[in-house]
Amino acid sequence: MSMKKVYPLIIFLITFSVLGILYIQMSWIKNALYVKQEEYLNQLDKTLDDVRQIAHNSFINAEGFNPAQLDDEIKESIIFTKFTAQTIPAEEMNMIIVQAMKNQGIKQPFEFCITNIFNNPISASQGFTGSMFAESINIRLTPAASAQPETFFLYVKEPKNYIMRQMASMIIASILFTIIIISAFALTIRTMLRQKNISEIKSDFINNMTHELKTPLATISLAVDALNNEKVIHDTDKIRYYSGMIKEENKRMHKQVETILQAAKLEKQEDLNLNIQSLDAHAAIDKVAKNLSLQIQEKLGELHLNLIAEKSMIDVDEMHFSNIVFNLLDNAIKYSKDAPIIHITTMVNNGMLAIKIKDNGIGMNRETASRVFEKFYRAHTGNLHNVKGFGLGLSYVKTMVEAQDGYIKLESVLGKGSTFTVNMPLSKINNHEV
Ligand code: ADP
Repeated sequence: MSMKKVYPLIIFLITFSVLGILYIQMSWIKNALYVKQEEYLNQLDKTLDDVRQIAHNSFINAEGFNPAQLDDEIKESIIFTKFTAQTIPAEEMNMIIVQAMKNQGIKQPFEFCITNIFNNPISASQGFTGSMFAESINIRLTPAASAQPETFFLYVKEPKNYIMRQMASMIIASILFTIIIISAFALTIRTMLRQKNISEIKSDFINNMTHELKTPLATISLAVDALNNEKVIHDTDKIRYYSGMIKEENKRMHKQVETILQAAKLEKQEDLNLNIQSLDAHAAIDKVAKNLSLQIQEKLGELHLNLIAEKSMIDVDEMHFSNIVFNLLDNAIKYSKDAPIIHITTMVNNGMLAIKIKDNGIGMNRETASRVFEKFYRAHTGNLHNVKGFGLGLSYVKTMVEAQDGYIKLESVLGKGSTFTVNMPLSKINNHEV
């Protein structure tokens, strides 16, 4: 299966399972909430039972018996004939309730009230009000068949989200983990999509290379044919012209091959073999600018050199430094819709020499700008079809700038132009103020 088909499948599978996990987790939490709620109601029921039980025992005790030693039947008959909560003082009742709640692990504040057959309170906590009846749970304190029924009302102060709060840490943790999973997933997908698949890169590269080498080869072949022409063979001027052409095309091919070889070499960083020497950056930039001036003229462009840094000696490998400037300037010329206007400015910035190469070309959007230093990356340059390259130039530039302790920055606005700034450390010894 090709990578192109694998990506959507992976994205689909992961999205599907993340949604599934979310769903399961949510229903699980909902379930847990429900179970907790049930458990709480159950605890309250048991509390009522306990209150009744303890109240009965306390009454029997007050009658002068030990409830633990008393026969169940006798106990029941005493309760049936004599029990009334009126004999239990409110403070004792309060203690009984605290005890019963403690048995069930409930710590909420409460109020209580006990009513007689006429629904009149016979005992109550101080804070109990009439409106609490509706929200209280209750139990008959007296036996079912009693002629003087007494009812116990318990009002538990229940903050609305009591159960929710008990489970808050769990819910928060699960939300947090879900967010982490989703962001990690998003990040993975982003990275995945950014990675142009290898076979695509390979075929792009081969297409580019074929094109780059085919043109000079065709030209050379034509020139050789011309040289073999009877009329030409005796014309020294023509021979010179055609052999010059062959030489030019050969040079061009050489440059292409050099680019590819350079890129291959960069793979093995340790083999860079830098020949670091003190170099006057201004002189080197000047030289590169001269080499490219013909190309700029051809496009009716302008190059403005503004080499005004007060120090310009840097410790670099001359060949690589020139290549860096060449690549940037070459791109500035290549990626312009019409006449390129290019400014090269130098300045000293935090002990570094900043070399700014500013063009008014096609510019880049943010996505492109963040990727141009990647090997083989090439933006789709819209109507600039004729601009060919391997997408290796800027990755070479960045690698070499960094190998020489510098750094490169890019600012670009789509349709307006780009500014590359190379910062190289100034030479420590050879710099004197000018
Ligand atoms: P190449 O020029 O061979 O394609 P580079 O690595 O030099 O490779 O550049 C990579 C890509 O960056 C180019 O294909 C182009 O899309 C973009 N780019 C580079 N320089 C500029 C520039 N000055 N203006 C606009 N786009 C640029």
